[in-house]
Amino acid sequence: MNDILPDEMAAWQFLEQAIRQVVASYGYQEIRTPEVEKTALFSRAIGDVTDIVEKEMYTFDDRNGDSLSLRPEGTAGFVRAGIEHGLFYNQVQRLWYLGSMFRHERPQKGRYRRFFQFGAEVVGLPGPDVDAELILMSARLWQTLGIQDKLTLQINSLGSLESRAVYREKLVQYFTAHRSKLDADSERRLQSNPLRILDSKHPDMQPIIKGAPHLGDYLDAESRAHFDALLARLEAAGLAYEINPHLVRGLDYYVHGIYEWVTDALGAQGTVCAGGRYDGLIGQLGGRETPATGFAMGLERAVALLSDVPSNAPHAYMVLIGEAAEQAGLLWAEKLRDRSPDISVLCHGGGGSVKSQFKRADKSGARFALVLDDEGLASETLLCKDLRGEQAEQRLKIDELVSILL
Ligand code: ATP
Ligand code: MG
Repeated sequence: MNDILPDEMAAWQFLEQAIRQVVASYGYQEIRTPEVEKTALFSRAIGDVTDIVEKEMYTFDDRNGDSLSLRPEGTAGFVRAGIEHGLFYNQVQRLWYLGSMFRHERPQKGRYRRFFQFGAEVVGLPGPDVDAELILMSARLWQTLGIQDKLTLQINSLGSLESRAVYREKLVQYFTAHRSKLDADSERRLQSNPLRILDSKHPDMQPIIKGAPHLGDYLDAESRAHFDALLARLEAAGLAYEINPHLVRGLDYYVHGIYEWVTDALGAQGTVCAGGRYDGLIGQLGGRETPATGFAMGLERAVALLSDVPSNAPHAYMVLIGEAAEQAGLLWAEKLRDRSPDISVLCHGGGGSVKSQFKRADKSGARFALVLDDEGLASETLLCKDLRGEQAEQRLKIDELVSILL
């Protein structure tokens, strides 16, 4: 599991702030559920015959002998919490979450054993208007982050459960005819989860997958209308998309529109955000049948796409010259912070030469050094030196400094 170190944090904070700002602008409320749930919840919600449940979960027995798992995704716990607290009964909910997820995968760029997901979920609305809203919300996030040109929207429809049953038959027929060429995973999924074969990353499988029948050719009238209405709303909003007839989601309960935001800037780990409608899940987990839809985004992959990240360095580093200044430094820094909660000041600690203090000031990334010396103590001023720009050095009162720092 990877650590996220301080010098990566500016990008993470920028991303998380953008997420909070965007979800607030759509009126979504936050929900936080535990990192650990009963294992049975995930096998019921995600499905026994999925990569996640078969190979990727961290599962252990707790002290009571109950089997628990670290959450590999956020939707199962979200639905469990919603049912448990009566959030879904006759209500519309627009909620979002952000937190760490755990999957025992082979770590590589863009793929970690502890990773973060931001997700948004809407319960109680059958769509497709709200599916379009979620897609527009994700698009607005890319815009806010300045990465919209690196992502394309791929979309497909899985249709209703009924229309998918017809397609499933066709798919089983097709893959059975090519049985000798299936890899072991796909062979196993032929009966249990044939749609998942379409999602195989195995290179040898790609030509066979390419020739497979398209789900889009088997949509019933209702499913087609749902999908067309979703596409029409995206078009009306001027949002470009590509229909990818082989796009499936790993989980059985998805219906109608599903989508992925993909990039070619991250090598093999190209999917940044994935979502779709999961009308069957709440009923499947013991709640009353309720339509629901949502997406989940991987934060590591979004961070990797960022190029312009605002600095989170402090505004100023206080350099203390002379014994009296060393004594008074902390209080002077407090006075500055009193003026505005937005000001950030790093106050030098531990003594040392002027030269070494300026070295630390430089390393801190602060724009300004504020020098406190005997003269400053007498005249209640700080000497303000611009460490990065062209501003001339000036001696200023604290009140005058505020507008320069911010
Ligand atoms: P992949 O095909 O890349 O394995 P997935 O279909 O397993 O993705 P989802 O379960 O749809 O992924 O999760 C949504 C998003 O979460 C992904 O698009 C990705 O951005 C992120 N994600 C999933 N697994 C990982 C991981 N191990 N490390 C980092 N991010 C991940
Ligand atoms: Mg995966």
